[in-house]
Amino acid sequence: MNAAHRRTPETRRLTPLFLVLTFLAAPAAAAEPDWPEIERSAVALLQQYIRIESIDPPANTAEAASFMKRILDDAGVASRLYPSGPNGQTNLVARLPGRDRSKKPLLLLNHLDVVPVDRKAWKFDPFAAVIQNGEIWGRGTMDMKGIGIEQVMALVTLKKSGITPARDIVMLCTADEENEGTYGIRWMIEKHFEEINAEYVLDEGGFGTRSILAPDKLVFGIEVGEKQTLWLRVRARGTAAHGSQPIPDNANVTLLNALEKALALPPATPHPVIAEMVRMIGEPLAANKYTAAIQTNTISLTTLTSGVGSPVKANVIPSTAEATLDCRLLPGVNAAEFISGIKARINDPRVAVEVINQPEDPGPSGSRTPLFEAIRRAVLKTHPEAVVTPMLVPHGTDSNKLRVKGAIAYGFTPMVLDLSTAGSMHSDQEHIPIAEFQKGIRIFYDLLAGEF
Ligand SMILES: [Zn+2]
Repeated sequence: MNAAHRRTPETRRLTPLFLVLTFLAAPAAAAEPDWPEIERSAVALLQQYIRIESIDPPANTAEAASFMKRILDDAGVASRLYPSGPNGQTNLVARLPGRDRSKKPLLLLNHLDVVPVDRKAWKFDPFAAVIQNGEIWGRGTMDMKGIGIEQVMALVTLKKSGITPARDIVMLCTADEENEGTYGIRWMIEKHFEEINAEYVLDEGGFGTRSILAPDKLVFGIEVGEKQTLWLRVRARGTAAHGSQPIPDNANVTLLNALEKALALPPATPHPVIAEMVRMIGEPLAANKYTAAIQTNTISLTTLTSGVGSPVKANVIPSTAEATLDCRLLPGVNAAEFISGIKARINDPRVAVEVINQPEDPGPSGSRTPLFEAIRRAVLKTHPEAVVTPMLVPHGTDSNKLRVKGAIAYGFTPMVLDLSTAGSMHSDQEHIPIAEFQKGIRIFYDLLAGEF
């Protein structure tokens, strides 16, 4: 008898046991989410959510918050609304209790408000949530109603599947993120911090891409830190005069000269997170405006204001001229020294530099955490070929306000985006690919169902 014959009776004997084991595992299998149904309803919910015009200003998020609350109510996830401001600003907090209640929660953070639109510039109505060629268009699809729906769908799917997460999961949907978080994250931290006090935070920020971070390589950047936002006003003073007779003390010319010097930034010291990104990816970052911005300090000249009269007169030399500079500093850069450097370069007593917005710099969150590993596992389950790396983002998010409070915060958009999609936030082209939006729900679900 050969080996195969000898094994046959054994196999027969083992089969019933195998069936029993399968049967014992069956309750878990029975609770496997109905993904096609979840993905279909998620798209419908995202469309409804986009149609709620939660524009900031005025930042009335009452309807958007109630909409999210209904989704949670339907699944039996406890939640509460927090009206916070005079224009209907409303926040929402939901909580799904976990197994180990001695640990501080994981906070899922998303904002309910969106930036205003220039309706004429849109090819579709920005609040119609039109679907075309597998993409859903509308204000907030990228920033960040798409992620908000992914988070809430993952949470309610967890609840409906009967899975108790490793620790409490709290979801916070904020108002006013597009206005410095005044009646949103700042208000919640000031008035109800105990409700949102978390060890870990997942917010918008990083993303998956096959092009933005490295050419032809799938990289999921997990945002561990953001640049500091410093806004400055540069004001030049001069002598008012008749435009027919040029003078050296022309405020406009003084301002132009000052700006040219202010914008000539010295090279920045490379940041360790960028060095780690390059090491993880195994090659230099792709060259584009996004990767350029995360590797150095930047200044954008955003406004120029000058002239006398309305409409401004072409024949009057004004006595003052102003500009604003949107400066973004790498984490760890001293803002006061950065401003001193600008003043030293300008070196002109007729030019004043004022601070409009002072940054807060808690520095990046560490990436050697169980949550970071859980994110890596969840991403690799859907995208086995991906490189998962810590990254910096060039813009501000609500995360820094929680890092200041001691939370470990990561920006995590579980979607693969190209530059035109990722760059569509705040633009008249805002859209996301539906397939990636749907995959993101599963990635969030796998993450929240696992150990962290
Ligand atoms: Zn946002």
